[in-house]
Amino acid sequence: AVPKEKHDYQSDVARLRKIVINRLEDVFIRELISNANDALEKLRLTALKDSSYHYGADGLNITIKAVKNSDGPGGKLIIADTGIGMSPEELTTNLGTLAKSGTSDFLARAESSDATGQGNLIGAFGLGFYSSFLVADRVYVASVPPKSPKDPNPTQYVFSSSADDSSFETYPDPRGNTLGRGTEITLVLKEDAADYLDPKNIMDLVSKHSSFSSTFPIYLFTERDEEVPVEDEENEEVTSEDADEAVVEEVEEKEDKPVKTKTVHVEEWLQLNPEPPIWMRDPKDVTDDEYERFYQATFKDYEEPLAWHHFAGDSGSGVSFRAIIYVPSRLDESFWQNQGLSTSTVDVRLMVKRVFITSDLGEDSLPKWASWVKAIIDAEDLPLNVSRETLQSTKFLKQIRSIILRHIIQMLTKLAEEDPEKFNKVQEVYGTALKLGAVEDKKNQQKLAALTRFASNKRERVALDEYVEGKRKGQKQIFYLADVGKSVKALGDSVFVEKLTARGYEVLLLNEPLDEILVQNMRRWKGMAFQDVAKAGLEFGDEETDPEDEKKEQEAQKERFQPLIDYLKEQAKDLVRDVVISNRLVTSPCAIVADKFGYTANVQKMMSASNS
Ligand code: ADP
Ligand code: MG
Repeated sequence: AVPKEKHDYQSDVARLRKIVINRLEDVFIRELISNANDALEKLRLTALKDSSYHYGADGLNITIKAVKNSDGPGGKLIIADTGIGMSPEELTTNLGTLAKSGTSDFLARAESSDATGQGNLIGAFGLGFYSSFLVADRVYVASVPPKSPKDPNPTQYVFSSSADDSSFETYPDPRGNTLGRGTEITLVLKEDAADYLDPKNIMDLVSKHSSFSSTFPIYLFTERDEEVPVEDEENEEVTSEDADEAVVEEVEEKEDKPVKTKTVHVEEWLQLNPEPPIWMRDPKDVTDDEYERFYQATFKDYEEPLAWHHFAGDSGSGVSFRAIIYVPSRLDESFWQNQGLSTSTVDVRLMVKRVFITSDLGEDSLPKWASWVKAIIDAEDLPLNVSRETLQSTKFLKQIRSIILRHIIQMLTKLAEEDPEKFNKVQEVYGTALKLGAVEDKKNQQKLAALTRFASNKRERVALDEYVEGKRKGQKQIFYLADVGKSVKALGDSVFVEKLTARGYEVLLLNEPLDEILVQNMRRWKGMAFQDVAKAGLEFGDEETDPEDEKKEQEAQKERFQPLIDYLKEQAKDLVRDVVISNRLVTSPCAIVADKFGYTANVQKMMSASNS
């Protein structure tokens, strides 16, 4: 046989590999924790609906345990949950096919999308269960559903597959039902993944990427040897009254003879995720970083949110709740394609007393214009076993919907005032959606219209209120020119606008489809009517200025430009009869005009031609 050759990667390739692998490796633990969380949520929901399921006092949790090989390098990482578990059939269909998994989304996107879309794919899409094989040569999944009247004694099964296998096997767990309920995933780590056996690394990784992936406690098994002093008999006899004395005595003793110690093996389950969940905490105590990581883990978005708002309130019918609403950094591509309500199911997570209830608000979903909002709402005073149908009849959902909308608007309004730079980003992404809101959401129309921005002949972006503030004296209308699809520049250069520009008026340049609809829909803003400058009947408003004022202004101008006039007169005394200030011009700096009583320029040209 040909001997194997060993090659080193070119340095760039090695670097790239490292980046990709690091990024991917971060993914696996996040995915497995997220699956465990889903399984726990499913169990809790099932038990809420069906009282024959119990999850007992042993609680709902996720555990992580690293087991080093006793006889050499390598080892296993075991991630277990006490969730809904999987029957043998489910093991096969859920883990053996891509039909339901996030991975199939990933593949569909990776195969269809253009190169630009691929950069973020690794982060944006969960690789799901299969990310295990990034770090493991072999994966065992032991799983057993909870006991139920249908199956009072379920059998624990194992799914097993290796990284380079194109097949997998399932079999009854030879250990019997060790789990009682739930799933245990054993990763037999690749040699170069041995870092994951170090509890410190696991702790870092979980707190960095996954501490918000679950609302259930995540525990890490840790063990260490500790040297503890051996208690002496004298000390044991000390009573509480003379305890202080005893300590002093001990210190004195130390100086004479060494304290005897013994080695104790300490085992501990350390909780890795913060408690309580961040929406239950005081906003003052939550860092931006925590809000961002919580968002990314909860809504499975690789990018950071643009803005968020964390608040508590009362629904109006006596249900108190806490909520965080988030503005994602981009609008889903399908936003303008989907008609009607948002179809996404993860956008609004409704919880009752920390328990996830539903993402489906049915007819009380947010309206189209706001359907991009991601929110988590936790209601305190609802019964845990509410169904969506009951919720709807309690008006709670309707009230929550309008509260959320109000808070979105408040948040954006505040952002516009306090952080114009960020608000500009919001405009870039959601500008059109806000216009849609101003057209469709009659109840919030005024507030939404105040959040919309338009291009004008004077500024890149102007709010209606800013327009009104900057109006000229006597101006009674908001001028606009609308032509969908034209560039702002082309609109600004149009003859209709030129006249107004020259007179110092601001003209809104509307080139988005919704712009004109919105303007016509509202008709007025702060008492000023919208006026299309391309339409007849245009009044500037300054015709009505006080003749006294006008005269004063003319005089001022005359005085200001007198030196220039004198200079030009002197320079051109053989060419022109006079040099005067004019208000006839729009954009040109000067023009030569025929004398009121003289020949027109054309006639003069003809005369000089015949004279020669
Ligand atoms: P996704 O989570 O997007 O569905 P995954 O590849 O992560 O895709 O998981 C595939 C399926 O396997 C899940 O939908 C779920 O039905 C099942 N599954 C995975 N992990 C667990 C678990 N810990 N407990 C119960 N079921 C699980
Ligand atoms: Mg998953």
